[in-house]
Amino acid sequence: IDQPTMGFPENQEKSKRAAAFFLSPDLGLQVLQTSAKKVEKYRQQLKKSGKAEKSIVSASLPAVTIKAERKKEKFITENVLGYVEGTDLKDEVIVITAHYDHIGVQDGKVYNGADDDGSGTVAVLEMAQAFAEAKQAGKGPRRSMLFMPVTGEEKGLLGSEYYTSHPVLPLESTVANLNIDMIGRTDEKYNDDRNYVYIIGSDRLSTDLHNINEEANNTHTQLKLDYTYNDPADPNQFYFRSDHYNFAKNNIPIIFYFNGVHEDYHQHTDEVEKILFDKIEKITHLVFYTAWDIANRNERPVVDKKGE
Ligand SMILES: [Zn+2]
Repeated sequence: IDQPTMGFPENQEKSKRAAAFFLSPDLGLQVLQTSAKKVEKYRQQLKKSGKAEKSIVSASLPAVTIKAERKKEKFITENVLGYVEGTDLKDEVIVITAHYDHIGVQDGKVYNGADDDGSGTVAVLEMAQAFAEAKQAGKGPRRSMLFMPVTGEEKGLLGSEYYTSHPVLPLESTVANLNIDMIGRTDEKYNDDRNYVYIIGSDRLSTDLHNINEEANNTHTQLKLDYTYNDPADPNQFYFRSDHYNFAKNNIPIIFYFNGVHEDYHQHTDEVEKILFDKIEKITHLVFYTAWDIANRNERPVVDKKGE
């Protein structure tokens, strides 16, 4: 298995997760005492009637014993934290995240993940620089800013989970998380149209936060804000699939900025030559102006919803 699961060592002792094994289709059929033909027939039946018919697996399967060596490897990785201290409201903080990990090397091919999530990572760095320069010029934000490229997203949002369970600044004082994951490409729906971004989660916990983002866009960027994936009934469930979710589950209002998937998603062809830099720039402006507003307004965004 070249794609091992990963988790925190402190949770492993308690883990009740069953061991998972990959079998070849042939061996799988043998273990379940069925045949490819029967499975195909079952599939056709299922397609026709839309519901499961009589099981194709024999009711009395023999016990199977699998002996395999369990390999455990320990390694260390880290989130990166960049802090710009605020002024009169410095005890409150806005966290800006993007994951800097990707899926590594597979079959000798390097997966660079230029869009996923190189695009978000450079956006975070640019914003950190802008806020730091503003502060140097004596015009820094009232609330504090935490710029945090996180690790381990592709292995189950591990970096953001670690941060929210070991926060450096209190979660009660964390007023919002803006998370950027893939903003450098277009998806099939938009194709040649670069002037859009999917907004996910902005209204789930705080109407204020949603309005701040809309207003920043109306005033400064005029992107088409597409809420398709914010629909709780959307089958993709992106609300749960990137780092912002670890903040949302702690009742911290979030916005997830996203361009949708494309043919190079999780392929070694997700390369920098294909990145639309003007698109990254424009969406980064939107995130920046939203962050700037939250950082400097008198009242933090009110949590008035339940996150559903
Ligand atoms: Zn990603």
